[in-house]
Amino acid sequence: MEWNLKTENPEETAAFAMKLAERLEQGDVLTLEGDLGAGKTTFTKALAKGLGIERNVNSPTFTIIKEYHGGRLPLYHMDVYRMEEDSEDLGFHEYFEGEGVTVVEWAHLIHEYLPDNRLEVQIFHVGETERRLTVKAFGPRYINLGKELLG
Ligand code: ADP
Ligand code: MG
Repeated sequence: MEWNLKTENPEETAAFAMKLAERLEQGDVLTLEGDLGAGKTTFTKALAKGLGIERNVNSPTFTIIKEYHGGRLPLYHMDVYRMEEDSEDLGFHEYFEGEGVTVVEWAHLIHEYLPDNRLEVQIFHVGETERRLTVKAFGPRYINLGKELLG
């Protein structure tokens, strides 16, 4: 299933991510796609805030995977932008099946390692501060989540 929504500014994107964060459960996997500057990290920061994580989330320059604890659930933030396609498995499954929630920026670069069931958020530039978000649910857990969230 698929939903579309528009945000007019970063705050609206953040508000959506925070609403989503409230409903996340252990083992949930979200993928974020979109050009540089689309808002993937903005989304992840808000998601962390929504999980009650106080540490600032930023896009790791050299670290591909960062863990944030201290919230309602741990957050595993992966930014695989610098990974070569078809490169080695960094133990992704341990995170996907771990005790927290995993968010993957540029997820298509590790598509072979992604779980079949996941929520995919694509962010498209529309204007300077306007974005279109396409949310795609794969698997019953995420179809339910999407329905609860987006109708
Ligand atoms: P990415 O991680 O996709 O490269 P970032 O989240 O780092 O992108 O940067 C997105 C930039 O775009 C931020 O400076 C953010 O404030 C800005 N922005 C403007 N409008 C929006 C919007 N509607 N949603 C999200 N970010 C927006
Ligand atoms: Mg980013």
